Amino acid sequence: MREFKLFVGGEFADAASGQTVESQDPSTGGSIATVALGGAEDIDRAIGAARTAFDEGPWPGMTPAERAGAMRRVYDGIIARQDELVEWETLDSGHTMRMSSLFTIPYGNEYWRHLAELGSRYEYQQSVEPYGFPVEAWDFVQREPFGVCAGIIPWNFPYIMAVWKLAPALITGNTVVLKPALETPVTALILAEIVAEAGIPPGVVNVVPGHGPGAGEVLVADPRVDKVAFTGSTEVGRRIMQLASGTVKKVTLELGGKGPNILLDDADLDIAVPGSLWAVYLHTGQMCEAGTRMFVPSSLYDEVTARLVELAEGMVVGPATDFASDLGPLLNRRQLETVERYVQIGQDEGAKLLTGGERVTPAGGEGGFYFQPTIFGDVDNSMKVAQEEIFGPVLSVIRYDAVEDALRQANDSIYGLSGGVWSRDIPRALALAKRIKAGTVWINDWHMLSPAAPFGGYKQSGVGREFGRWGLDEYLQTKYIRVDQTPTKEQKFWYQILGL
Ligand code: NAD
Repeated sequence: MREFKLFVGGEFADAASGQTVESQDPSTGGSIATVALGGAEDIDRAIGAARTAFDEGPWPGMTPAERAGAMRRVYDGIIARQDELVEWETLDSGHTMRMSSLFTIPYGNEYWRHLAELGSRYEYQQSVEPYGFPVEAWDFVQREPFGVCAGIIPWNFPYIMAVWKLAPALITGNTVVLKPALETPVTALILAEIVAEAGIPPGVVNVVPGHGPGAGEVLVADPRVDKVAFTGSTEVGRRIMQLASGTVKKVTLELGGKGPNILLDDADLDIAVPGSLWAVYLHTGQMCEAGTRMFVPSSLYDEVTARLVELAEGMVVGPATDFASDLGPLLNRRQLETVERYVQIGQDEGAKLLTGGERVTPAGGEGGFYFQPTIFGDVDNSMKVAQEEIFGPVLSVIRYDAVEDALRQANDSIYGLSGGVWSRDIPRALALAKRIKAGTVWINDWHMLSPAAPFGGYKQSGVGREFGRWGLDEYLQTKYIRVDQTPTKEQKFWYQILGL
């Protein structure tokens, strides 16, 4: 079994407590790695290392092109170890091999590459329109790194999330303490090895897996941390905001979702039906931006639900390591029990179980945490299965008669992370997309994001944006510098007021 240590100040070390945890393969329930368990003392050391690297080290003073060069070396290291990253993401977090080799790891790599490149040509000095009131001055804005950034990430997309937190913070000149989720820490620690080999200065990147309360809270509350970027549940996001308020830290939050997926009556069902299953079942539904609420016109309801059920029943549930698996396992027993509980709640609330609803044990997956692809019909948008994040392979289908009514229900949610519309009529779909209250809306697609485009939530799905220039903005202070242009004392504005 492989051992992973904490990465602090450029070195791999045991936890101060000496404690470790075993990381579990969701496909079998077996242990795959031993990981050092970071606690308050380790977080304290990591913050100290990041603080020193920012205050005294070369990183923030390097040119963006120099930082991009260093990040390019990391990228080369990532590419050289891509197969290892694919294998570990599959083992540690249950991404199917097809998903991690075609999507998760290549996608993460592309974000690393693009954000470094984008940050190297970002305009760190921005001109301000000459104003001339009350006197002439040369005005400009200087964008500067915040300092020490905390990145706290969830278990569902460990590698992508690590990249999403590290790349924009680093290219803009910040240093980082990253706290991966304890359930899936491995690929972030492999990334730390690559960072160390690429010669990024010590302390610029620190990776400390640990518990939420024991490590995460310490990180958020520490006055030496300047900014917190958090991805996780809305419940913990609220707690992060509270903790950060003690030192009025800058906070960006990427939180939960309950994506409304509106099928219009002119949709191409050969695409929209499988596309709607892709929207909900990728990573066995353990996705914040999944399309979990599907709105179907009454006139098409029977046909669409029949097709959804037929396709869902044909999906292969199996070990993540098996290339034949369409759906892999859920993360762990707790997640399996949560999904099971929601299936019971849905039935108690009066939703109709159209297919699935049971655990399964595929061949080779004994000991793992598998659940059938599940579809509820006749769901009312006020039901718990339509309002709460289940984080499993459960689709809620809601019928509608008028599009206005579907839209009203789509927006009736505390969340606003994602949404989607399926239609052959793009102007019609666009008009609807503009009225969905969500940070990302897909037309005839789902899940595809771009490192050049902003990602984030409306309402309780988050604060701030990641990626593109909007994402880089979140890692930069905005400083206004004013150079007075009046040559004589008598022309100074203050002279006219105070006469000094
Ligand atoms: P979680 O909120 O339980 O944990 C997320 C991270 O926060 C973990 O690293 C955890 O250890 C840490 N944490 C927990 N309690 C903490 C505390 N009190 N203080 C500081 N840190 C704490 O979420 P999860 O179960 O790991 O992941 C699933 C959730 O993440 C879902 O709600 C999902 O929607 C959300 N998510 C959102 C996005 C997005 O981009 N919006 C992406 C992926 C997942």
